[in-house]
Amino acid sequence: MDQSVADPRLTDLTARIAERRDDLIALTQDLIRIPTLNPPGENYREICDYLAARLGRAGFAVQLIRATGTPGDCDEYPRWNVIAHRDGVRAGDCVHFNSHIDVVEVGMGWTRDPFGAELIDGKIYGRGACDMKGGLAASIIAAECFIAEFPDFAGAIEISGTADEESGGFGGVAYLAEQGFFSPEKVQHVIIPEPLNKDRVCLGHRGGWWAEIQTFGEIAHGSMPFLGDCAVRHMGAVIDRFERDLFPAMAARRTDMPVVPEGARSSTMNINSIHGGQAERPKNSTALPSHCVPDSCRIVIDRRFLVEEPLDEVRDEVRALLDDLVQTRPNFEYSLSELNHVLPSMTDRDAPIARTVAANVARVMGREAEFVASPGTYDQKHIDRIGRLKNCVAYGPGLLELAHKPDEYVGVDDMMDSATVMALSLADLLAPK
Ligand SMILES: [Zn+2]
Repeated sequence: MDQSVADPRLTDLTARIAERRDDLIALTQDLIRIPTLNPPGENYREICDYLAARLGRAGFAVQLIRATGTPGDCDEYPRWNVIAHRDGVRAGDCVHFNSHIDVVEVGMGWTRDPFGAELIDGKIYGRGACDMKGGLAASIIAAECFIAEFPDFAGAIEISGTADEESGGFGGVAYLAEQGFFSPEKVQHVIIPEPLNKDRVCLGHRGGWWAEIQTFGEIAHGSMPFLGDCAVRHMGAVIDRFERDLFPAMAARRTDMPVVPEGARSSTMNINSIHGGQAERPKNSTALPSHCVPDSCRIVIDRRFLVEEPLDEVRDEVRALLDDLVQTRPNFEYSLSELNHVLPSMTDRDAPIARTVAANVARVMGREAEFVASPGTYDQKHIDRIGRLKNCVAYGPGLLELAHKPDEYVGVDDMMDSATVMALSLADLLAPK
């Protein structure tokens, strides 16, 4: 702890968090042990009920909200969200901590129980440990300790646990933003405790454009391909143009956003899948394929773009390459359909929440906070575009590189430090002066 924490109440607040280490561990373990896999969206109600009980005991007014009719919502897998609100004793700003409750599939390669939440050498293991149940637990401890230390605080504190971030957030933050929960009249500051490392403040994220491209051919006997037209070869020409023109052009573009890791400071594109001709043969099938020239080939592209690139230009650049092939390659026909898009979001580094969290990172960690931006998107997009709330950052414990990996874990010391940063940030924004 840095000497600049001179205010005795801040010293007391920091000490209060230090005393809650075991509670923080137990809370994180409880959250990991509720497997909230998405897809399909399991146990959302269970984790919301758990959070509602916990936050209700801390004096929050709690609402459970089902995002009825959003993608994936059904009676078997309802999209439940929880929002907890605690008013202070007088008017002031509202600070909102938003965490997603869902976790991605387990995948292979684990040496720990993915839902066992084992504590080993100061690390808690499990799917969702760092992304982002550790951050959710840290924000709860931070809020509880702040309220205990400053019962006379101004404004309000909110904590939400929201569905489906890992699949776009439509049944979570997007839905709540549409209902007005993130309007700037109601909420003035948002912290999203995603795992960006405890000494980094994340200002926003790049944009994304997802599209499917299909090339067409003509079916014929495989022994006489010259009587047909091979859609896979046409797609080969598309990929060749990507290699020669698009990938070098994207790599040459650099953003002023502080995106990490370094490679994501340029535009990027992933070819997510490719499929042409007959359906893929089941792994253990002994059946042989029939001999046909494929008349269709499809790829899905995942194009990540910079805050400096307008979405229209991103789309037009790909379409121009395809149109050029129509002109230059005999019988080339294609279709292009957009699957989804997300615009970039970037909070100003002088915004109140960014400055406040960065100052407290410096206070707790004894070194300057690093401002970063995320290569992939997260729920800030909905808070920005639907909620129209610009004063939002991501800040939370855990290593970004561990998200979605086998043997995912969150460090207890990291959670303790982040909880301290969050609590001191609450004190800066809401404590009586
Ligand atoms: Zn996450």
